[in-house]
Amino acid sequence: MKYKRVLIKLSGEGLANKTKSLAIDYELVKNFALQLKSIINKKIQVAIVIGGGNFWRGTSAAKNGIPRVRADYIGMLATTMNALALQSGFEKNNVKCRVLNSLSMDERVCEKYINEKAIKYLNQGEIVIFAGGTGRAFFTTDTAATLFASEIGAEAILMGKNNVDGVYDSDPKVNKEAKKFDRISYDEILRRNLKVIDQTAASMAKENKIDIVIFNILEENSLLKVLEDNIKRTIITSENNEGEK
Ligand code: UDP
Repeated sequence: MKYKRVLIKLSGEGLANKTKSLAIDYELVKNFALQLKSIINKKIQVAIVIGGGNFWRGTSAAKNGIPRVRADYIGMLATTMNALALQSGFEKNNVKCRVLNSLSMDERVCEKYINEKAIKYLNQGEIVIFAGGTGRAFFTTDTAATLFASEIGAEAILMGKNNVDGVYDSDPKVNKEAKKFDRISYDEILRRNLKVIDQTAASMAKENKIDIVIFNILEENSLLKVLEDNIKRTIITSENNEGEK
């Protein structure tokens, strides 16, 4: 396996089960836990940034009259709820796990993010979940993922998407002829204005030379497969080659 330390970005919506109207699908969490167990056994260190979109999105709440900064703090609390639920789901399956929060929280809830602590836990083979996004309004958890990947020196961000298996030149749900990129550079993503990751996240990952791998999180054993490079995916890289299809 190529990577020794990775950061997995899980979206909040990726935890939900819409058909069963569940904000958090514990079968899915169990499935992630079992995959993470074998990843940790392979001596790959794993950090996770969790989103909050299954509960709350700051931009939508702001449209309903809640001041944007406050709406975003509610969003950061939503990521904290997901992080704690994930932690419990992982621990239940004997996967050691810590939650480190960018927001100040009472220590009965979770630990505060301190870089050295995160590194120590990762070296001990524990999963580290970063909650609270960047801790500031107007950002997304995609940006938090690139920020934390840079801070902990992760070699790649594995960005699981719901039912999308990579980056396409146009929306594959609308255009049947859409072409998927195997690899594509950040410059090309920005130039083509492709909406797969937000632009702040893209420019930060580019600056810090971190690969982002986009894949379908709902495919069976997707986390294991993406680390073995045995799944349909797109690698977004800072190498400035023309995007090959
Ligand atoms: N959020 C924020 N700052 C951050 C990260 C998240 O304010 O650094 C808020 C924002 O309101 C966002 C919400 O938390 O809408 C949930 O995060 P996100 O939308 O990124 O979650 P995902 O789409 O991954 O589920």
